[in-house]
Amino acid sequence: MISKIRELEKLSRLLDPKANQRSKWNSEVLDYANTFINNLDTSKAFNQSEENGKHIFHLDIEEQAVELVPLLASTTKNIDGVGINPASGGHMGYIPGGGLYPSALGDYMAAVSNRYAGVFYAAPGAVRLENMLIKWMCRLMGYPEQAIGNLTSGGSIANLMALVTAREVHKLKARDFERAVIYLTEQAHHSILKAIRISGLPEAQLRYIPLDENLKMSPSHLEKTIIDDKKKGLIPFYINASLGTTNTGTIDPIKPIAAIAKKHKLWFHVDAAYGGFFKLVHQLDSKFIGIEEADSITLDPHKTLFLPYGTGAILIKNKAHLLQAYHCLADYMQDVIGKEDEISPADISAEQTKHFRGMRVWLPLKLFGLKPFRAALEEKLYLTRYFYKEIQNIAGFEVGPEPELSVAIFRYVPKDKNADAFNRKLLKAIQNDGRIFLSSTNIHGVFWIRVAVVQFRTHLEHIELLLEIIKKHVKSNT
Ligand SMILES: *Cc1c(COP(=O)(O)O)cnc(C)c1O
Repeated sequence: MISKIRELEKLSRLLDPKANQRSKWNSEVLDYANTFINNLDTSKAFNQSEENGKHIFHLDIEEQAVELVPLLASTTKNIDGVGINPASGGHMGYIPGGGLYPSALGDYMAAVSNRYAGVFYAAPGAVRLENMLIKWMCRLMGYPEQAIGNLTSGGSIANLMALVTAREVHKLKARDFERAVIYLTEQAHHSILKAIRISGLPEAQLRYIPLDENLKMSPSHLEKTIIDDKKKGLIPFYINASLGTTNTGTIDPIKPIAAIAKKHKLWFHVDAAYGGFFKLVHQLDSKFIGIEEADSITLDPHKTLFLPYGTGAILIKNKAHLLQAYHCLADYMQDVIGKEDEISPADISAEQTKHFRGMRVWLPLKLFGLKPFRAALEEKLYLTRYFYKEIQNIAGFEVGPEPELSVAIFRYVPKDKNADAFNRKLLKAIQNDGRIFLSSTNIHGVFWIRVAVVQFRTHLEHIELLLEIIKKHVKSNT
């Protein structure tokens, strides 16, 4: 048996490479990363091709080990080289992501040390760090000391966690689900609809509250609907407001909605996945008034904190609510619970073993300090306003509501052609060009092209380039 063990050990030790092998791989990956970043200025924001990454299938899993360099070459070609490039300053479609470099180093550190950040006693320092980040986000939103939250994989999971918490706090049982009422607008993010289904509430009543002319939820309609629903014997329990809709960056009237939620005892959730970190820009303070009254807030550091994908956050105003919803005791964890000075992420989320996400959030915030984050966000606001102004200077264009954050919508209105068809074609032409990537939206049946300035690498030169591309295509098509 010993000889068998030795034989296996020899192979299994391959999983723990020595320093020289590690250095070699490190430097190869570093070369890849440097080439990727250095080429961003000249690479496209959107690449389409016939085979669209299919060749990655040639690198399916096999018994044999292979060299790293060809894998990196294939990554460059088949993964990085096709589709939308979220690291590009030209990416202004959907809600662009970030990819701050120190986050990669944070992930590297977290993966190497592999701290078990789910449970305080296993990784007290790691849990403290994650809770410190959550507390910082809570302070930023004006939440009290007893607020807590969780770093999630994204905004969708954060929205789901908020709804599940509200469901538990309102003690809704299966027999109540058909009478439970959720209030939102048609501009709410579709992850809310997913959350409703996943949380077992597909039979709940949805009330789409009318929008005013600026696409904001109308508080008077909201209150009237809640009162009507109560009269009907229904159970109004949840209001979802958007602090920055994905479509147009519009902010629902937070303060009046908070007052209605309080008066009628509903859970008030603010989905600030896109807009939340704009709180770092002082000129927007007034738009956040009342957010501290929300029972829960979704933030998405992988959007407006410019982190790589895989980092969201849910903040819950009252710690007890989150524990009520998620805390379960497992027998084998009996040594652990109730003795800690920090809440463990595993006690307030669906996750047990989890990625030590805190490191990728903390490292860039520390290495850069907050100042450049505030500046970058403010720059994106001005870039959007600049675009909004300039596009109106091109004959034939109309625009949507004045941008509150960093999303603007616009379309060309041809004199003698179908506007929707024209703008679809225009968008296609911009996407085919590929240097700038934009997406579209549909508002009350009208097709709009949408620009979202969120990538930290997007600067004035990209907006100028976009205007130039638009002018060129409109000229050649009219
Ligand atoms: C992006 C977004 C979400 C979903 O977040 P993911 O991180 O993509 O899961 C939810 N709500 C709003 C307003 C968003 O912009």
